[in-house]
Amino acid sequence: MRLRRRFAILLLLFLALAAGAGTVEERTSGISPDGAPQRLVLALDGIPYDLFVELQGQGHFTDFYPAARMVSTFPSLSDVSFAAIGGGEPPQGYQQMRFDAARNKVVGNTLGTLSSRAHPNLGEDSRSYSSLHRMIGYLVPYHIALREMREIGREVLSSRKQTFVAYLETSDAVLHVEGRRAGGKFLVKLDAFLRDLRAEVRERTGRDLFVDIVSDHGSTMVRGRIVPVERVLRQCGFKRRDRIAEPYDVAYSLAGIIGSLAITTSGEHAEEAASCLAAADDVDLVAIDRGDAIGILTADGIAEVRLAGTAAEAYDYTVLRGDPLGLMPGMTAGTTRRFDEASLFMQTLDAPRPDPLRRLWFAFHGDVKEPSTILVSFVDGREAGNTQVRAFAGIRGRVGTHGSMTRLASLGVIASNWRNVDDVDARGANETLFGARAVTAMRLALNEQTVRADPSTISTPGAASGPSVFEVEDVMTEAPAALFEARRGAGGGVLDPAPAGGGVGEERLGVQDFEHLQGVGLPVRREMQCAAGLQPVRNECGK
Ligand SMILES: [Zn+2]
Repeated sequence: MRLRRRFAILLLLFLALAAGAGTVEERTSGISPDGAPQRLVLALDGIPYDLFVELQGQGHFTDFYPAARMVSTFPSLSDVSFAAIGGGEPPQGYQQMRFDAARNKVVGNTLGTLSSRAHPNLGEDSRSYSSLHRMIGYLVPYHIALREMREIGREVLSSRKQTFVAYLETSDAVLHVEGRRAGGKFLVKLDAFLRDLRAEVRERTGRDLFVDIVSDHGSTMVRGRIVPVERVLRQCGFKRRDRIAEPYDVAYSLAGIIGSLAITTSGEHAEEAASCLAAADDVDLVAIDRGDAIGILTADGIAEVRLAGTAAEAYDYTVLRGDPLGLMPGMTAGTTRRFDEASLFMQTLDAPRPDPLRRLWFAFHGDVKEPSTILVSFVDGREAGNTQVRAFAGIRGRVGTHGSMTRLASLGVIASNWRNVDDVDARGANETLFGARAVTAMRLALNEQTVRADPSTISTPGAASGPSVFEVEDVMTEAPAALFEARRGAGGGVLDPAPAGGGVGEERLGVQDFEHLQGVGLPVRREMQCAAGLQPVRNECGK
């Protein structure tokens, strides 16, 4: 146990050093010389990669370079993923509401998880919302998401920061409650909104507004059914309790409706519980912390993952029975193969479980401060649910979730209108968005804009180009459209394209919903009125 703790501390130290890019606050404290932000980093909660790609294919976000994948953490949950993207401290647990092993109880009740203090720790500049806002967000997510978007527009235009980091939360609820088509419709509005915002910045400053979009995870985008975890465990002799007192007690919190579950057991029966869950229907995989290794269990295999190198990050994958992750088909039990992380990342981007080894390792070593004993990932269309939240979401229906290791739940998006970005994981997104190279690239791209806008330098483009050959792939010179063909990978064609602008949501979630809400006196009225126009304003509507 002591050895294990020392190992964990070493790993955390490694993570701190390897991260490098630093927190949002450290990297985005600069003041814009012309009084308007030069770059907007727009964090959209829960927008799936496939959906964004589909929209680009339909002629939206054409002033953006082809979108890249943002491979989420495992579990593919906001708190964990955005903490890594923001580069801040890892959260205590995978969700606000969690089983705290040290205190031997579930902490962070449902209302607490809905409070304004409980939003993911991205370090954003935009305002954070109340629990009421969040609840209304689950009732009428599409409209609330648009309202958040317009509020972000106002905040950007009244900010003097060089890089403004905004967090749009309710897009996640749109995907949970209304699904793919409403998500697409929201993105169409977002595209138009960003064009307007950029035009406004151009008018004021004579230069463009750089926009980087990032999301923290994807969505299964299918209607889910609850997995009866408690019954499964009971049949194996375990009892779900609020605290671990007896050898066969298990504890877990059900926060939200998600595709994963973090389970705490007594040490002596953890393996038994993991085997029990792995054999259950609808379980994609079970991961168990074995100290120096992570045990991986599926219905038809067992394997172990070990960190094998940090300088060139590598993992050892040992098959014990079958090949649960499908990385070494046909290998005999006991075989170990070493995987170079950089290669495996590229090879598994569109696999059923993207980037599996690193994500599984980090789930227990660094992504959260207090990992659970067991993590369960469900297949798409299956979920673990909180009955209260479920009843609440049931009012509007629910058509997708995330949290699991599956491709759809795991792949968020990263896209930029001023540079070509590569596929990243959450830590890579931190580097791409807030690393030293991003800052340098922005400076260079801004210089080029200034040079282009200044007529005196147009006749001598060669002389004025300065250091732009440096880091040329970040600054980019090709037109976005030219890169679309190259980026069309295996990801785009997996799902049926939904018809564009299908009229989802607006009729159903129309004015009457808001009238009702306003009628009962919820404090949305003032903001509703302020949000009436798309044109961002900076008057009394602000604060
Ligand atoms: Zn999220």
